[in-house]
Parts: sequence; C-alpha cells; structure tokens
Amino acid sequence: MTFAAVDRTALWRLAAFIALLALLLAAEFRFPRRPVPGGGWRRRVTNVGLVVFSTALLRALFPLGAVGFAAHWHAGLLHRVDAPWAIATVTGLVIFDFAIYWQHRAFHHWSLLWRAHRVHHTDTGFDVTLGVRFHPFEILPSFGYKLLIIATFGMAADAVAIYEIGLLAFSLFTHANVALPPRVDRALRWLVVTPDFHRIHHSIHADELNANFGNILSIWDRLFATARANPRDGQTGMVIGLAEFRDAVDQEFDALLAQPFR
Ligand SMILES: [Zn+2]
Repeated sequence: MTFAAVDRTALWRLAAFIALLALLLAAEFRFPRRPVPGGGWRRRVTNVGLVVFSTALLRALFPLGAVGFAAHWHAGLLHRVDAPWAIATVTGLVIFDFAIYWQHRAFHHWSLLWRAHRVHHTDTGFDVTLGVRFHPFEILPSFGYKLLIIATFGMAADAVAIYEIGLLAFSLFTHANVALPPRVDRALRWLVVTPDFHRIHHSIHADELNANFGNILSIWDRLFATARANPRDGQTGMVIGLAEFRDAVDQEFDALLAQPFR
C-alpha cells in the first residue's frame, strides 16, 4: 500500500463516518428506542467535538496511522503463513476483535485507564454520538495497543483498514438509540453486538457496567461469561451514566477534557 492509498483509506473512513452518522441520526428520530435524557444538539455536538479533537491530535502525532504502519511492517505471525487473502483477512479481523474486547476490559479494570474511559461512560444519554465520545487519553493508548497487535500478528494494511472502518461503524450502530424489531435484535445478537445488548454496558449499576464489553462480535462476552441479556430495570427504564457525574456542567467540552484529572 502506498502513502496515497493510506490517505485514501482515511478519506473513505471519514466518508463512511459522515454517511453512517447521518443515517443513524435520521433513524433515531424516526424509530427512537427511548427518550434521551440530557439530549439535544449541544450534547451531540460536544460528543462529536471530542472525537474531532482526539483524531486531530492522533493524526498530528502519528500521521502514518495504523494502516500506514501495517503497510510498512513486514513481520508477524500472519506474514509467516502463506494463507489465501480472504482467510488471512478474516483471521486478522477476529484476532483484532478479540484483542479489543480485552482492551475494553482493561480500561474498566485499571483505575488509571478507567479515568480515561470514564469520559465515555459519564454521558447520561445513549445515542449515536456517544459512539465517538472518547478522550485523547483513551484514543492514544488504544492506538499504541493496536500497533502492538499489528506488529505481533502482522495483519495486512487492507485488513487493518477494513477493521478500522468496521469498528467505527459498529461503535456508531451499537450506541444508536434505534428500536430494532425484537426478532432482528435476537438474530443479530448470536454473532454481533446490537444497541440493546450494548446499552446494558452503559447502566448506572456496577454489575451491568462490567458486562457486555464486546465491540463487534458478541461471542467474546458469552465465551468469557460477561454477557447480560437484559438490564434489571428494563431497556426503557434503565438509567444511563455514572452516579458521580450527572450535572449539566460535567458534560461540557472542557469539563470532559479535564475529567480524567478529577
Ligand atoms: Zn466501557
């Protein structure tokens, strides 16, 4: 993959992000699952502002990105086996998703990491814009971890690009406040994370907050006994967010940037 191709990948990701954000916002207005407390456009713009800030910082520090790194890294386990493209790519995607499941658990387990990831969990609303509400202190170590995975397993640049777009798309989809038909939700859940499955992870109750860590595949939560099928207060009655950050002032852009230090 050349530099131009890497840049094209970044553009594709941006285009996919804008298109899917618009589509899911429209779906939220047409088929809302539940009212969004603390909602409104100010909150949405703040959440999107946080990802714009974090991504700009990441691009400034590491212009090559994970795809660019993969394009220049010619080592790792998958490089050693001469598997057909499709098998190598699917294997790479599954390894990525498994690794990111454990990354998410680490962000909940270690207090220093939790301070960064907590910014994502203090939102009292649950909608598509929550899917990109991540502090730079979460984005930067996640990027380093991703490079470590690529260096170890040697995913090809196009596999990394596919996973990055898939992860972003699923982050938007799984936080969307859309009411899927129950049959569709049940069918999808066998393999992938759905909004009803992931919403439980944003519960104010600690036991539910420490469940449903999956990002794309739901199988890891079932395999490692962290899956919850339903929130105890019901999908429409459950309270989103954390008990200690519920004031409007906690949700302002500067307060979110400062939150890991509080
Ligand atoms: Zn979490």
